[in-house]
Amino acid sequence: MMMGSLIVGMEQYEFRCPACATQFPVDSPVLDATVENGCPLCGQPVSTDHFVPC
Ligand SMILES: [Zn+2]
Repeated sequence: MMMGSLIVGMEQYEFRCPACATQFPVDSPVLDATVENGCPLCGQPVSTDHFVPC
């Protein structure tokens, strides 16, 4: 749960893979899918810790 977010709508995050160091921007649905499926490049399991709001 994100509390205190003033901007509602297009929530954008930057994904940073801890294993292969790839970075790409994601929105909330893609974030959820990536946490479920792992990094799309290397398959490393990731958590929401690997996403930063931007
Ligand atoms: Zn990766």
